[in-house]
Amino acid sequence: MIDSPDNRPSLDELMALAYEAAKLAHCPYSGFHVGAAVWANGKAYTGCNIESASFGLSLCAERVAIFKAVSDGCARFDMLAVVTPDAPVDAAPEQRICCGACRQVIAEFISPQGVIVIEGIGEVSLQDLLPTPFLLPT
Ligand code: ZN
Repeated sequence: MIDSPDNRPSLDELMALAYEAAKLAHCPYSGFHVGAAVWANGKAYTGCNIESASFGLSLCAERVAIFKAVSDGCARFDMLAVVTPDAPVDAAPEQRICCGACRQVIAEFISPQGVIVIEGIGEVSLQDLLPTPFLLPT
């Protein structure tokens, strides 16, 4: 695992970590593997989708990776890569892009200069993903 603050990965390297994470997906219902990797505080955190028999309890790869980073003390992440190896090569962006719940979580934890890359789509901005995230009044 890449774990040095001076060894920031390229987006391709982060995508490769996301691919490895996708292999660990627990997706007996959908059969759709998803992998994610975030770079936060000089360390990579990976996640895969985890499905539950109680479907509403399932969790997306993006949130698994982000929550792993947050639970390790990282308030912000700098890079996010998402891969969908089971999507057809010509899959539409809607078949690869992050769901609404993940977009909200991304908005809350991405650093101001954070980068998001999605397999088959490329780099996307937070503004494109979620122009108006929910924020608690302060
Ligand atoms: Zn999601």
